[in-house]
Amino acid sequence: MPLRWRLAGLCVVLVVGSVSFAQRSAKAAAPVKAAATSVGLAIPDTTSATNSSTPMSQRVVHYEIDARYDAAKHTVDATEVLTYHNLTGQSLDTFPFHLYLNAFQPKATWVREAKRSGTRDDVFEKWESKFNGAAEIKRFEVEGMGDLTSQLEFIQPDDGNKDDKTVVQVRLPKAIAPNGYVQFKIAFHDQFPETLARTGWKRDFVLGAQWFPKVGVWWHGAWNCHQFHAFTEFFADFGVYDVKLTLPQYEIVGASGLEVSNVNNADGTKTVTYHGDDVHDFAWTASPRYRVKDAEFPGQMGPVKLRILMQPAHWTQVERHERILKQTMRQFEHWYGPYPYKTLTLVDPEPDSAAGGMEYPTFITGGTTWWALEGTPIGPEEVVEHEYGHQYWYGMVATNEFEDAWMDEGINQYTQVKVLDAIFGRDTSLQNRWGITEGEAEAQQGFYAGVADMDPIAQNGYDYYGFGSYGGITYAKTASVLLTLEGIIGEDTMRQAMHTYFMRYRFTHPTKEDFLKTIEEVSGKNLRWYFDPAFYGSPVMDYEVLSLKSTPVDWYVEKKTNAGKEDDKNTVYESWVALHRKGDFVFPVEVEIKFSNGDKVREHWDGKARWVRFGYQKKATVVSAEIDPDHKVYLDRNRFNDSRTAEADPKPARKLGNYWCFVDEWLGQFLAWWGI
Ligand SMILES: [Zn+2]
Repeated sequence: MPLRWRLAGLCVVLVVGSVSFAQRSAKAAAPVKAAATSVGLAIPDTTSATNSSTPMSQRVVHYEIDARYDAAKHTVDATEVLTYHNLTGQSLDTFPFHLYLNAFQPKATWVREAKRSGTRDDVFEKWESKFNGAAEIKRFEVEGMGDLTSQLEFIQPDDGNKDDKTVVQVRLPKAIAPNGYVQFKIAFHDQFPETLARTGWKRDFVLGAQWFPKVGVWWHGAWNCHQFHAFTEFFADFGVYDVKLTLPQYEIVGASGLEVSNVNNADGTKTVTYHGDDVHDFAWTASPRYRVKDAEFPGQMGPVKLRILMQPAHWTQVERHERILKQTMRQFEHWYGPYPYKTLTLVDPEPDSAAGGMEYPTFITGGTTWWALEGTPIGPEEVVEHEYGHQYWYGMVATNEFEDAWMDEGINQYTQVKVLDAIFGRDTSLQNRWGITEGEAEAQQGFYAGVADMDPIAQNGYDYYGFGSYGGITYAKTASVLLTLEGIIGEDTMRQAMHTYFMRYRFTHPTKEDFLKTIEEVSGKNLRWYFDPAFYGSPVMDYEVLSLKSTPVDWYVEKKTNAGKEDDKNTVYESWVALHRKGDFVFPVEVEIKFSNGDKVREHWDGKARWVRFGYQKKATVVSAEIDPDHKVYLDRNRFNDSRTAEADPKPARKLGNYWCFVDEWLGQFLAWWGI
């Protein structure tokens, strides 16, 4: 979801715990065509919904789901056949499953955490039955082992909250051998809540997300299957999805993957079948009122069918949605790598539904208003770009959002700055109206600055102090760290590193160090001095110009004329400029010093001491000093003190610009708080 929305408290999502691991071979996304072993399963041969003729991921899972949606009750009754390929290299006899919809119960961890941080006080002042969500397993069989429903056990690996039923575990009577397959046959019943955390119903709209029992990920030598928490998001294995949705014929439907059939049934329902491969989740939506625009994007790996589902009230913005979507897709392919899927569905969700601004594989939700102006900061462009960007970092690279949320949201926030800057201009990528301009990069710096010392980036999502620091650090600090990194290794090198990272690690589940080491490798630089405090610590960077001073060298000599006037041109001054490192983050900075005769001097300071003083003797006085004159250091918390003039400058342009940013951000947040 977009940072602005997260900080504005419009919707919330989840987080989680820690496990120690030893990574399953991440780099080799070996095609899975091995013969079934273990329990003698027939492994389905899948048709490809991607533009790749061979599997791009390990395809650990194959979900076949047959679901019936009751639009009146907002319920789903479904059967799920999950075939799991044990590529862990060891025998497995225990399997955990997510049941995310159980998060929406008053004693569940998600609700408790939301109450604790006050993010949902507007909604949860009083618990109402419409908030109830549930995923109930009616029957749980394992091929060759019979009915194991009675063996299911809820576990709470993160906080021990016995009232939390978002993870269920089963122990099998017989272990699954390495490289073997196991098939789970599950019957389940869902109750959707009125939209919370981007799932559920609103009026006659529904977003079916996190709605089926989903197996955890074996990662680094252990199961990684966290409870549903209030801030962070998801983590799942790649595989193949074949999903049949049966719902009323009047519904207009969109979903992850490729629609392979659409059949009307005699009872007034229809069954729409979708297929997706090399994806790690499946979401769908239905509403009788969507207006649909089909389009096509000429991708590097073949045409991509675009399906845009708009609210009727927003239909006049459909071209705008299509335009920004295509511009974003083009930029991502140009810089980071190809989009390999055959489809992308963009959903404009029901207004006021808490279903907007979310990403699922080949399926994203945007969000707009009927009055959204071109260039409006919370307009559809920013959210469509943001959610599409997730197709790369969440969708294909697929990092662990419970534990390394920044690797999705933060890297995505960084690429959002780059892509929107490329499309709309560096200083106008967020605002360009009424004479007010603002770039995305400045906005990230502003969001981060308010919570700069609250939390380190690299920690589990649930370990963050609160909603504000989670958003400000995970999203905006990460973006600011990576923007600042451009100043160290160069923008082109950074882009090359991002491309290498994406191409190398797509369809795997890389770690923090995989990302950081890729940047070091591509840049050829040891960057630990920067990465350690920036990602793993929480020191604050804040440099200031402490003082400027000029004094005539011969100040003690009585002047024949008025000092500072007639003789000024020939008076030699001694000038001093002092810089101060106020924070604990040591970082080399440049300062540009201007003199009254027009001279400019650039100095470099390694920043190691607490302060530094530069001295000059010139026939001129010092006029001003500015730290980071090229505006490359986005991590500096307070940019108001980065410059100073000897006398009050009637046009302190940069400071004025910062005030505009502040006013503008405040306005944006104010509007967002009102649910606009
Ligand atoms: Zn996001």
